[in-house]
Amino acid sequence: MLVFKFGGASVKDSKGVENLLNIVKKFSDNLVIVVSALGKTTNALEEILKLSFEETDKCINKFEILKSYHSNIINDLFPDKNNTIYSEIENEFKKLYNVLFEEKYDSFDLKYDQLVPFGEIFSTTIVSAFLNSQQLSNKWIDIRKVLITDDTYREAKIDMELTKVKVDDSFNFKNDKIYLTQGFIGGSKKGFVTTLGREGSDYTAAVLANLLNAEKVIVWKDVEGVLNADPQYFIETEKLNKISYQEAVELAYFGAKVIHPKMLKPLHNKNIPLYVRSFINPDGPGTEIDCFKQYDQDLPIFVLKKDQMLISLFPKDLSFVMEDELSKIFKYLSEHRIKVNLIQNSAISFSLCIDNANSKAKQLIERFKEDYKVLYNDQLELLTIRHYSDDAINKVTKGRKIYIEQRSRHTAHFVIR
Ligand code: ASP
Ligand code: MG
Repeated sequence: MLVFKFGGASVKDSKGVENLLNIVKKFSDNLVIVVSALGKTTNALEEILKLSFEETDKCINKFEILKSYHSNIINDLFPDKNNTIYSEIENEFKKLYNVLFEEKYDSFDLKYDQLVPFGEIFSTTIVSAFLNSQQLSNKWIDIRKVLITDDTYREAKIDMELTKVKVDDSFNFKNDKIYLTQGFIGGSKKGFVTTLGREGSDYTAAVLANLLNAEKVIVWKDVEGVLNADPQYFIETEKLNKISYQEAVELAYFGAKVIHPKMLKPLHNKNIPLYVRSFINPDGPGTEIDCFKQYDQDLPIFVLKKDQMLISLFPKDLSFVMEDELSKIFKYLSEHRIKVNLIQNSAISFSLCIDNANSKAKQLIERFKEDYKVLYNDQLELLTIRHYSDDAINKVTKGRKIYIEQRSRHTAHFVIR
């Protein structure tokens, strides 16, 4: 049994959905297919949600745009206008409208989780119906009733035990060979819809693979595989053929976007290989992520994390930064769920590099000021080079101001501007 994951970019228009059909047709295995919301639908829904509190007219306008985007795709895919897909999607849009304007929710996050998952409901309903109309018989599964989570809205934690029972029951391969379902979303024990965090459908695919003991997972992307650098920021890139789970964790942790950081643990636990392959060139071999012992390509790997903040702390009285001080700092960071990307210390200073994506960084600085002299720089980049050479380092750091440099045997990190 294989698990496939198709992201939004692979199904951004009717051609994409047809391409998905052609890819799936090449396989004769039992399959679970996880499909994301079409194109940039999740971003659009987030915007619609925000506008619903501010500007009703603009909100309704965006809602209508999203609706016609889906209608156009359905029109292309289903020439028979009596196909029930037309009324099904119409109905789901009505429900979405009700969540937006009719129903009341106690918190923003709760409303978010009742609203944004419609993207995955639309997409999977459409793709499943289309495959069925093309003689690729498949069963649509409502993952909101299967993947059971706690109620940490927007970052729900999966209850693996409860989910295992429901997964075995729903994906039993008794009468069906192909199942099609949503990623990123689940349901709480209280009966609300929940989400697992943005880009979470990769994680769903990995969890389903783990629970169903899949042979492998294939994530279909718009790149040939995992590249040795993000083509958005680097001119020359090459594909990695095989990397280990450990390598992949390192890359995901330091910011490589092709691999979702939460994906690797459920796969590694069951030794399930992960393939990243191209939906544009589906016959290409892609990248294999498995329990390889050694990285065997003579190719440095570059990972860039943008918008970093470097904060340095100095005790006000020149006392040493000792264990109890450090434990206080880390306690605060973990309580506020601030991920530290890199640290460096000396006898009388302690520096940390964190994402500067939200207001947490500012609060953190204010908090630190109570106990330390604090210096900070923002708008920095954290550049990680795995399997580095002097040449590789020169190429990417030349002319840049380096704030911190750290090297271990296989990895070099630079905090730079
Ligand atoms: N559609 C969701 C998002 O864009 C989940 C996913 O694509 O993984 O974040
Ligand atoms: Mg998506």
